[in-house]
Amino acid sequence: MISEERIRSLAAHRGHPVVTSCYLDVDGRRYPRHVDYENHLEHLVRRGKERSAGLGPAAVRSVEADLDRITAWVRGGFDRSRVRGLAFFACSADGYFEVVESARPVRNEVVINHTPHVRQLQSLLDEYERFAVVLVDRQRARLFRFELGGLSEHTEVFDAVPRRHESGGRSAANIQRHTDELAHKHLKHAAEVTFEELQRQPLDHLILGGPHEVVSEFETLLHPYLKDRVAAQLSIMVTASPEEVCQAALGVEFEVERQREATMVSRLRDAVGSGNGGVAGLEFTLRALVERRVDTLLLSDGFEAPGWRCGSCRFMAVRGRGCPVCGASMQLVDDVVEQAVEEALTNKCRVQIVRENADLDVLGRIGALLRF
Ligand SMILES: [Zn+2]
Repeated sequence: MISEERIRSLAAHRGHPVVTSCYLDVDGRRYPRHVDYENHLEHLVRRGKERSAGLGPAAVRSVEADLDRITAWVRGGFDRSRVRGLAFFACSADGYFEVVESARPVRNEVVINHTPHVRQLQSLLDEYERFAVVLVDRQRARLFRFELGGLSEHTEVFDAVPRRHESGGRSAANIQRHTDELAHKHLKHAAEVTFEELQRQPLDHLILGGPHEVVSEFETLLHPYLKDRVAAQLSIMVTASPEEVCQAALGVEFEVERQREATMVSRLRDAVGSGNGGVAGLEFTLRALVERRVDTLLLSDGFEAPGWRCGSCRFMAVRGRGCPVCGASMQLVDDVVEQAVEEALTNKCRVQIVRENADLDVLGRIGALLRF
C-alpha cells in the first residue's frame, strides 16, 4: 500500500553505486495476458541497461542484477485482481530490494539514480480520487471506503425494521404503513451516518447499491454534498462480499477515469482549435513546458520520442543540437517525453496519462492546457 510514510522512507535510501527504479503497468483491464506487460518489461530492461552503460562497471553489474531480480519477481506472479501497477527499487550491490504493489496503474518507466525515484508514487497519492460505496436495504446500510483502489474501511448501520407484511386486511395495512415509516427512518439514519463518516474524511465519488426503489429513496435523503458526488447506482446486494463490492467499485472508477480523460481531451481540442489556452504536438508542448505555462500535461499512454535536452538551462526540443536559449550544445535523449513528464511534475503541473482516447493521438499524442 502506498502512503506518505512509505514514500518518505523509500526516498531516504541512498544506494551505492546506483539504485534502479522501475515502474510497470500491469493493469488487467488493459493487459489481460501476461505477455502483454512482459513485453513492456523487456523494453524497460533494455533501456535500463543502456542508461547504466556510462556509469562505470560496478553500476552496470548492479543494474543488470537489479533488472534480473525484477524480471524474476514479475514472472513469479502476483495477485492480478488487486494489483494494477508495480514499482521496484533495487540496488543489488548493497542488497536493497523494495516492491510497491499499487491498486492504481502506473506509467512504465525506468530510472537509474543514487536514490529511489519516487515521484510517480507521490503523484499517485496526490492525484487519487477517493471513492466510497454505500449499500442499503430496508434494514441495513454498509459503507465501504476505498483508498488508492483498495478497500480501506467498512462501517455498518443496522436498524431493526419488521419484515414487510404480505397478508391483507385493515390491521395489515396499518402494520404496513408503520413498517414503511420505520424503513424510512432507517434510511434517514443511514444517510446521517454516511454524511458524518464522509465529513470526517472527504471523498470525490459515491457509489450506491441495493434494491432500486430503496436506493432511490435513500438518494433523496442524502446531504446535497453527497448527492452531487453520486457517480453510479449499482444493482448489488446489501449482503455482497467485500470482494464483490471492490470489483463493482473498480468498474465505476474505470468509467469515471475514462470520462475525465475524454473531458480533458475535448477541452484541449477546443483550446487548440480556438488558439487560446492550449497547445498540441511535441514541439509546442515542450516549448510551453520550458516557458512554465503548463497547467495540465496530457499524453497518450506509451508515447515516446527522441529529442534534445540542454544540460545548462534545461531547455527541451525536438531538434538539436545548439540550444536556442543559451547557445550550449544540447544532449540527445532517447525519450524526451519522459523528460517532459519529469519537468511537469517538478513544476507541480498536473499530468494526465490518456489511455482510452484516440482523439489525443490525432492531436499529436501530447498537449497541454495552459495557465496563461
Ligand atoms: Zn540551454
